[in-house]
Amino acid sequence: TGRIVLSIRIAPMSGNRTLILFFDTTEAKRLEETRRDFVANISHELKTPIGAIGLLAETIQDVADEPENVVAFSAQLQRESVRLASLVQDIIELSRVQDGAAIAHGELVSVDDVVAEAIDRCRIEAESRGIILASAQAPDAQVFGDRPLLTTAVRNLVDNAIRYSNRGGRVSVGVTCFEGDVRIAVVDQGVGIPPELRERVFERFFRGDDARTREEGGTGLGLSIVKHVAADHGGRIELWSEPCKGSTFTFIIPEAYAPDTEQEEQ
Ligand code: ADP
Repeated sequence: TGRIVLSIRIAPMSGNRTLILFFDTTEAKRLEETRRDFVANISHELKTPIGAIGLLAETIQDVADEPENVVAFSAQLQRESVRLASLVQDIIELSRVQDGAAIAHGELVSVDDVVAEAIDRCRIEAESRGIILASAQAPDAQVFGDRPLLTTAVRNLVDNAIRYSNRGGRVSVGVTCFEGDVRIAVVDQGVGIPPELRERVFERFFRGDDARTREEGGTGLGLSIVKHVAADHGGRIELWSEPCKGSTFTFIIPEAYAPDTEQEEQ
């Protein structure tokens, strides 16, 4: 937004001269603010399920002689602890990717393997919601990067596509190589995203506030993780969406070539 933060250092020199040094600390300041906001948000988000778990445990003690209530409150307690576990998991993943250092030890990764593993991890969830999962393959597509992180990113997109679809809907994943990039498109026919929220869905802890979203029990960190993983790999995310018709999230990162393929091409 054009705001520049400078630190100034003044050093007296010999012969009545003074050296004034200006340091551009804009980026350091921005990172510090991001870190502070993140910690504040985390504390707030963790307090909700932790508070609920404490309250539910107390309630269960109060209704110890009412078996039906004990069962109902224990089920709620279990849901809250699952939510807490996925929140902690997402926070760990996000803190790994947001400083950009996560792919220091990258390798050549087959995109088909990433997509197959991501889909595999979502299969049970899809089946329980009657969602048809389909994927088209691109056997030669390769990227350079961190395989577990890439799998997490694609899994988050497929998981969202399933959770924001209507029962019986279809979710498909397509891979294409275009102008030096690999494009992984995750397509759903679900609830869609209104235009004014299309930027905001990538913010940390942002959640669409329709009742449906809250019932889904997500963490609001999934897309933020996806965005950072794409950026860490020199890529980006594109989003097309229309309310009530569906959404397409396209994860785009540079294509990589195995050394012998490159030689053949020269
Ligand atoms: P979560 O799904 O845990 O709420 P995300 O960061 O993954 O968090 O997504 C943020 C918000 O973006 C969601 O709460 C939802 O409102 C919206 N969203 C994400 N993916 C989709 C999708 N495929 N279709 C419709 N809305 C979506």
